[in-house]
Amino acid sequence: MRQPLIAGNWKMNGTKASVERLLADVVAGAGAIQRSEVAVCPPYPFLQMAAQALAGSSVRLGAQNLSTEASGAFTGEVAGPMLAEFGCKYVIVGHSERRAMYGEDDALVAKKLAAAHAAGLTAILCVGETLEERERGDMEKVVGGQIDAIIQISGIGAFDVLEVAYEPVWAIGTGKTATPAQAQEVHAFIRNRLAGHSAPIAAKTRILYGGSMKASNALELLSQPDIDGGLIGGAALVAADFLAIAKAGDTAAQ
Ligand code: PEP
Repeated sequence: MRQPLIAGNWKMNGTKASVERLLADVVAGAGAIQRSEVAVCPPYPFLQMAAQALAGSSVRLGAQNLSTEASGAFTGEVAGPMLAEFGCKYVIVGHSERRAMYGEDDALVAKKLAAAHAAGLTAILCVGETLEERERGDMEKVVGGQIDAIIQISGIGAFDVLEVAYEPVWAIGTGKTATPAQAQEVHAFIRNRLAGHSAPIAAKTRILYGGSMKASNALELLSQPDIDGGLIGGAALVAADFLAIAKAGDTAAQ
């Protein structure tokens, strides 16, 4: 049984005051979460504050991005070892916003995955198709291609040390959620793709769903056999909503 992972991607949101409140509320509510693993990924400047607020709680810390490099003359970049030092367990890699807005391609994503692993971080590798690609009937080609590219560059072993998040681009921040059946179909497709290389890795890899997951649709999504958690954007900015999703993870894991 794969333990559900409910991870909040706060994106570029928050002020010191709002982040302090959100962290305190998540920590206060997390005591009631029994089966799901809960993680939050605040913007870089809040990581230290978050590490302090989460200390002694069950809530894990993650970052939203990292450099391919471990240190050096890379102005504006943040290295994996820095994230590890500040208490991060997770780091999101290859989010569709970074692929679309910052030109991150599969080769760069593979380098970031390697950098995360080298720093002792667990990457959450995001994959997903756009609406246009889905409507063209290219979902499997796109998502399969994103998975295959990592296997080709880094080997199937890369999946032994990461989490996958299937995030249909058309569902991110749009209020449109993949139906549980649609999401399950893609999650099973991803798992089969991994199983073609390693059945044990396919069986243990957590595949999270991301894309307008909220308290009202979480239980049905998380109850699908190949959906092992959620990467939550908008709903993660409201502690009660985020915690309700983690509770749904608990219920689905019963
Ligand atoms: C995301 O960007 O990772 C995400 C899932 O966002 P939202 O939940 O807001 O769709």
